Amino acid sequence: MNVSLLDLKPQMSELRDEVIRAVTGVIESTQYILGPEVERFEEAVAAYCGTPYAVGVSSGTDALLVSLMALGIGPGDLVLTTPYTFFATVGSIIRVGALPVFADIEPGGMNVDPERMADLLAEDRRHGGRIKAIMPVHLFGQCADMQRIMELAGEYEVPVIEDAAQAIGSDCPFVDGGRVSWKRAGSMGLAGCFSFFPSKNLGGIGDGGMVVTGDREFAERLRSLRNHGAQPKYHHARIGGNFRLDPIQACVLNIKLSHLEAWHEARRRNSDLYRRLFVAAGLADEPVGLPPALYKDEPGGATNNYHIYNQFVIRVPERDRLRDFLKENNIDSEVYYPLCLHQQESLRTYGFAGLSYPVAEQAAHEALALPIYPELRQEQQEYIVATIAGFFKG
Ligand SMILES: *Cc1c(COP(=O)(O)O)cnc(C)c1O
Repeated sequence: MNVSLLDLKPQMSELRDEVIRAVTGVIESTQYILGPEVERFEEAVAAYCGTPYAVGVSSGTDALLVSLMALGIGPGDLVLTTPYTFFATVGSIIRVGALPVFADIEPGGMNVDPERMADLLAEDRRHGGRIKAIMPVHLFGQCADMQRIMELAGEYEVPVIEDAAQAIGSDCPFVDGGRVSWKRAGSMGLAGCFSFFPSKNLGGIGDGGMVVTGDREFAERLRSLRNHGAQPKYHHARIGGNFRLDPIQACVLNIKLSHLEAWHEARRRNSDLYRRLFVAAGLADEPVGLPPALYKDEPGGATNNYHIYNQFVIRVPERDRLRDFLKENNIDSEVYYPLCLHQQESLRTYGFAGLSYPVAEQAAHEALALPIYPELRQEQQEYIVATIAGFFKG
């Protein structure tokens, strides 16, 4: 049996005719920059996320970049984030001329540890307060501890830009006394940034991104900056860029958004099946660390997040050997991410060399993403877990 990490063909063959009709409509309309498809998609994402405003942009990376630009973050400023994420998070910070400050991730988790953030914010405040934004990442589709992060943001009066590129539709609990309210990824900070890269749960047929916000003035700045700061045309009050969402992507994403909840559900079902199979094989938690199984309606779920499983990431100390073994058995897997950001070659001159983030570094050694896409079949998952069991039997 062959199992790829992600197979986009079943999804596209189901939607093919509708997608071709919509793309043809854009082609025939000759509205090739912004326009009604982009506006319709912005309104739909705003409604889906429970935010008043949404601004379509060219990619998840540009969503982060334009948000930092709209906050006026630049040289001399620091942005507090995680060392364990996709490079775009920190690349965008450095591209505006600021520098990242890394807080290690939570022991046993994959997301940033808010207590490390608290320490760094306190220390920064003693040294004059250069941290101008907090950029948590909702890694693999599970929200970071946003209740605590938003408390810190309030205490230190620092805006939050959520890197929600992997987490559209994920919900996060806020506990007040005994009551739990749920907030959607992207809707908690000043800005929430999404990516429609094809491998995300909501993926286009190319690049695309979105910033959602509850702040009208901030949304207007984003709209202006994505179009070279022009307001009106050819009058440039700010220096922005070309960060516009393409209407062809928007028309495809409009179609796909109506299926997104069903796809999330299918990924959650697949994650449940993995869990049952790993437990039945006697591998669960030891030697195979499983990602959290978290549901809104779980008893005591108040302290849990609602995961959309953009990736299903297990942890095994012999990760590289297991990955080779899976490959020999025609099973695709991927390492997200083999290096932490402070270990990247391109950041060597930024003064991270002697720094160490042991929890993140251990995750980078152990993490292995298994196939989890919605159309993955039961027998494929059984084959994957049986192969992993065979690996540990030696
Ligand atoms: C995918 C991703 C991005 C970048 O999105 P693009 O659309 O590829 O530019 C940023 N941050 C994280 C965490 C991502 O996974």
